[in-house]
Amino acid sequence: MTARILVVDDVPANVKLLEARLVAEYFDVLTAGDGHAALATCEKTPVDLVLLDIMMPGMDGFEVCERLKANSRTAHIPVVMITALDQPSDRVRGLKAGADDFLTKPVNDLQLMSRVKSLVRLKNVSDELRLRAQTAQTIGLQELARVDRPDEPGSVLLVDGRASSQERLTRALKPIADVAVISDPQAALFEAAESSFDLIIVNPNFDDYDPLRLCSQLRSLERTRFIPILLVTEQGNDERIVRALELGVTDYIMRPVDPNELVARSLTQIRRKHCNDRLRASVQQTIELAVTDDLTGLHNRRYLENHLKLLIDRATTRGRPLSICITDIDRFKRVNDTHGHDAGDDVLREFANRVRATVRGADLACRFGGEEFVVVMPDTTPEMAAIVAERLRLAVESRGFDIPQAATVLNVTASLGIATLRPHGDTAEALLKRADMALYQAKNGGRNRVVAAAA
Ligand code: GH3
Ligand code: MG
Ligand code: MG
Repeated sequence: MTARILVVDDVPANVKLLEARLVAEYFDVLTAGDGHAALATCEKTPVDLVLLDIMMPGMDGFEVCERLKANSRTAHIPVVMITALDQPSDRVRGLKAGADDFLTKPVNDLQLMSRVKSLVRLKNVSDELRLRAQTAQTIGLQELARVDRPDEPGSVLLVDGRASSQERLTRALKPIADVAVISDPQAALFEAAESSFDLIIVNPNFDDYDPLRLCSQLRSLERTRFIPILLVTEQGNDERIVRALELGVTDYIMRPVDPNELVARSLTQIRRKHCNDRLRASVQQTIELAVTDDLTGLHNRRYLENHLKLLIDRATTRGRPLSICITDIDRFKRVNDTHGHDAGDDVLREFANRVRATVRGADLACRFGGEEFVVVMPDTTPEMAAIVAERLRLAVESRGFDIPQAATVLNVTASLGIATLRPHGDTAEALLKRADMALYQAKNGGRNRVVAAAA
């Protein structure tokens, strides 16, 4: 992981110290000796994370943070405040100023690296989301473009064997999350796999149970693999923390748990989970858009050509029948010529609706191009395909098409060609071709009819 980190501190020795550690981990480090320089740097260069000292002459860290978060060009940069151990109130002020995390002086190496990496990962995901949102905006997809939603409450599973700490942690998390509590780690594993949590907090107050075992099980189960884990640990147990992080624990927090720190860490993980979920959903939507016809919402030709091959392979290996139907609207050019292109579009949309309403859920309906549609029917014999095609023909002919554009109702008919997969050596191209020839015969035979290709 590489990232550009800005270290802000008025004491040059502190800057040097942090810089050396970060450079050793191959981060790209920028430095600033006061708040103004820090703001200027963030404005003019892309920064992935700011490590911010609080006590600085002139503008203090709180103000720097507030200004960064108030500026739309820098608001997305995570800020880690460096607070003094004896000033717990600084954490509250830091959170109010919009800080994403804290580190306590003197900064422990392990903490520094795990916080920095955790926040950089979060930023990578949200950067990707923002980039996609820009593209979505450019091509007019408003739904995909909405990234900067306010934080939604998270759902947290707290695994904690002791009632007193359960109560304390739940109270701290209440403003940001719905918390489910489980005392038994083994039951927690099941619960985590059954429900969908944004974060699992493991507070190991268990008799005879190794909390790292639970963590590693959570990491290996398919259903829980991507849920962040926050582990509560004892001071001075670095070896165990290193082990936990290796196992895939996302972050940790020291006892006694500071409620503000707990909130900050949990928020970071919940945001990251939400961002990841949205990113995955956006990938899914992008895929759907690429294979969907804009006008009718049916699958497009690209999808048909790819998916038909798979359906044919499956039918062939299982020895099942498969039929297809190509349908083409009759004299469609006249609709455009007489009532205009928009009226033609209305006809296409309504035609698609009738196709959708006629076929089964397992059938694949696509707009093949222009006014041609294809329905792929798995598990369908030629006889059944003829019945379905006839039903579709009738569904088009029997009711007029409402055309709001032209304030009229049009009578529409369609011609249909059907073909069935041959048991040996048939291909998608050959099958489509036979159906197309049958369609051609239907047109030549007078239109508004179904013709089956010879088997
Ligand atoms: P036939 O009965 O032989 O099929 O006659 P036809 O007029 O339907 O056939 P032809 O292929 O000559 O014309 C198809 C027309 O469909 C021509 C084209 O402008 C129109 N068309 C193709 N795509 C669209 C579309 O997305 N919207 C509209 N409104 N018209 C379209
Ligand atoms: Mg036509
Ligand atoms: Mg045509």
